[in-house]
Formats: sequence, C-alpha cells, structure tokens
Amino acid sequence: MSPQPLYKRVLLKASGEALMGSQGFGIDVNVADRIASDIAEARAMGVEVGVVVGGGNIFRGVAVASKGGDRVTGDHMGMLGTVINALALATSLRKLNVDTVVLSAISMPEICESFTQLRTLHHLGQGRVVIFAGGTGNPFFTTDSAAALRAAEIGAEAIFKGTQVDGIYSADPKKDPTATRFETLTHGEVLEKGLAVMDVAAVALARENAIPIIVFSIHEKGGFAQILTGGGRKTIVADN
Ligand code: UDP
Repeated sequence: MSPQPLYKRVLLKASGEALMGSQGFGIDVNVADRIASDIAEARAMGVEVGVVVGGGNIFRGVAVASKGGDRVTGDHMGMLGTVINALALATSLRKLNVDTVVLSAISMPEICESFTQLRTLHHLGQGRVVIFAGGTGNPFFTTDSAAALRAAEIGAEAIFKGTQVDGIYSADPKKDPTATRFETLTHGEVLEKGLAVMDVAAVALARENAIPIIVFSIHEKGGFAQILTGGGRKTIVADN
C-alpha cells in the first residue's frame, strides 16, 4: 500500500521566485507545470490544498519605495503580480484536469472570484484546489503573512513553505558550506534566532494559531507528496 498522507487540509506557500525558474523575471511555464504536477499528486492522495502564491518574480513594493516612490502604490503593483502568478498556476493545474479556482483578496470579478472564507471552504469541500491571489489585500504585508492568515481562516493543519532549499539552515547553505539544517524548531526559536524563513508577522500569526510550518524544497519533483506522507527532507517548525 502506498504511504498515506498525514494531513487532510494544508496551505502551500509558493513564492513568485519559485515560478520564475532560472529566468531573472516572470514565469517559466515549465516550472509552473512542474509545481502544478506536485499539487495534483497531493490532490490525488485526497489532501485538500489551498495555495498562496507570491509575486516577487514580477514586482515588490519596496522596489518602488527604495527609488523614492509611494510604497502603497508599489505594494498594489506587487499584489497585482500575485494575481498574474495565480492565473498561471491555475492554468497549469487545469491542463492536468485538476479542478482549480482562484480567489483574490482584491475584487476583480471579470478575472477571478473574490476571497471569502465561506466560499473557500465550499470550494475545498468540493475537492477544488484553491489558489489565493492578492496577498492579504493590504499594503505593508507579504504573501508569507497571507499564507499564515489563510491557513488560519481555512483551518489548515500546516503551512508548507516551499523554498529554494530543503529546510531551514543555520546560515545560507549556498554561501556557507558549514551551514547545517535544523530538523525541528519552535516558532519562538525561529523568531529569536531571526531565521530568514518567513517574515516575523507570519511566524507570529502561525504561532498564535498553533499552526506548524514545514519548510521544504519546492524544486524537487514529488517532494510535496513525500513530505505530506511524513518523509523527505524538511524542517518542521512547531510548538510542543
Ligand atoms: N504584497 C502586499 N501585501 C500583501 C502581499 C503582498 O503589499 O499582503 C505586495 C508587496 O509589495 C510584496 C509583493 O506584493 O513585495 C509580492 O509579494 P511577496 O514579496 O510576498 O512575494 P514572494 O516573495 O513570495 O514572491
């Protein structure tokens, strides 16, 4: 018998940079297709999946602010970037015949549905993958915070933070060969050590709602399914 998933409902956070692949900007459709195939695998295992997508491959508000522009407008641009990514990922999932819906924190009814908790729960109950676009809908936040927020709203058992590496390291493993990977950490330790995995607001919100964060590499084909069944290389952030 194939391994059974340990979770019924999860929240996957995929950064915009993950969708960009090795390009310097935008969306690599092959990478979006690959991530979609991992999500399809999770659905086939019966796991309900909500996905928060980032927008860093398109735009970040701080880039406007650092050049003297208005941060709020910059953040609006960043949030619109997440909608583009959400549509791209939805397209990749639908190519695999995975029933998928995009819900945006910013209303744009001609393009996608607007986010409400009830609507989300309905779609998840119908077996649809729900992609959350538009971050939290507010400037000065990130899509990491949106991931923690949506996870709490949908009662996700864990946040799966897909990153470029397979967990949280003591230092940047791409720069420091002596860096070691943590197997487990508490939310408090992540905050105290200032580990760059999710922003402080996101980790604090996850801690407040007792939601574990599982950090893994989003670039390993089949990695998501493996982690969902308790295997794979990862760091688990959870309070006992
Ligand atoms: N953003 C925002 N509010 C949110 C989420 C995102 O203003 O709730 C903007 C912000 O400018 C951010 C950009 O959207 O830099 C892209 O999101 P993020 O940086 O979280 O993307 P990621 O790093 O995951 O690709």
